[in-house]
Amino acid sequence: MTIDSHVDGNAMGGLLIDVFGREMTDAHGCCAKCGSVHAVGEFMVYRSGPGDVLRCPTCASVVIVAASLPERPRVYISSLRWLETAD
Ligand SMILES: [Zn+2]
Repeated sequence: MTIDSHVDGNAMGGLLIDVFGREMTDAHGCCAKCGSVHAVGEFMVYRSGPGDVLRCPTCASVVIVAASLPERPRVYISSLRWLETAD
């Protein structure tokens, strides 16, 4: 059975502030698989176990995996060509 339950990228906003030190949901990222560009807040967040998986809303490729480790948060940029801040 497959459960397709996700929220938008704004759900990862607090963790991204912890990692990048600024608001990142309005930053734009380019999917390395399909080349589409979206604001981080438009990506799809799937929550499972200890981490969150951010997927491209166009092709569903995993672009970022984030985890809140006991010591500090960590993000793994798995499939973004680039990520740029809004200002
Ligand atoms: Zn994509």
